[in-house]
Amino acid sequence: MDIFSKIAAGEIPSYKCAESDKFYAFLDINPLAKGHTLVIPRREVDYYFDLEDGEIAEMAVFAKKVAKAIKAAFPCRKVGMAVLGLEVAHAHIHLVPMQTEGDMNFANPKLKLSPEEFEEIARKIREKF
Ligand code: 5GP
Repeated sequence: MDIFSKIAAGEIPSYKCAESDKFYAFLDINPLAKGHTLVIPRREVDYYFDLEDGEIAEMAVFAKKVAKAIKAAFPCRKVGMAVLGLEVAHAHIHLVPMQTEGDMNFANPKLKLSPEEFEEIARKIREKF
């Protein structure tokens, strides 16, 4: 199993934001902003655009619900969505609360948060989901 499959299976700890039978959402450990969340399919696929059509559609609907929960928990202009996948070979969507377009620059310095801060952020998103 790859690292994100182990996270979705609960074998590696994560700050869970939401889950369903097919998808799992958890905080990015190197966040661009408070509420930066990753959405993954439980199924192991490396490249996002290799997902099945229906799977991409269902994942988008799941990510939409997560994005609404993020925005409710962390008021922002909009929640941005990005697919990179250069680091971890398990398809994932980044959801990032934005105030300006520069907030989506993945070269920006990442926030350093304590375990308590991560848990609090995840709890707020779970409550809104
Ligand atoms: P990408 O593959 O989209 O370029 O980047 C992978 C993202 O996953 C990065 O933003 C990185 O911080 C995050 N990430 C990598 N390993 C872990 C992990 O073990 N746990 C969590 N929560 N995030 C991770």
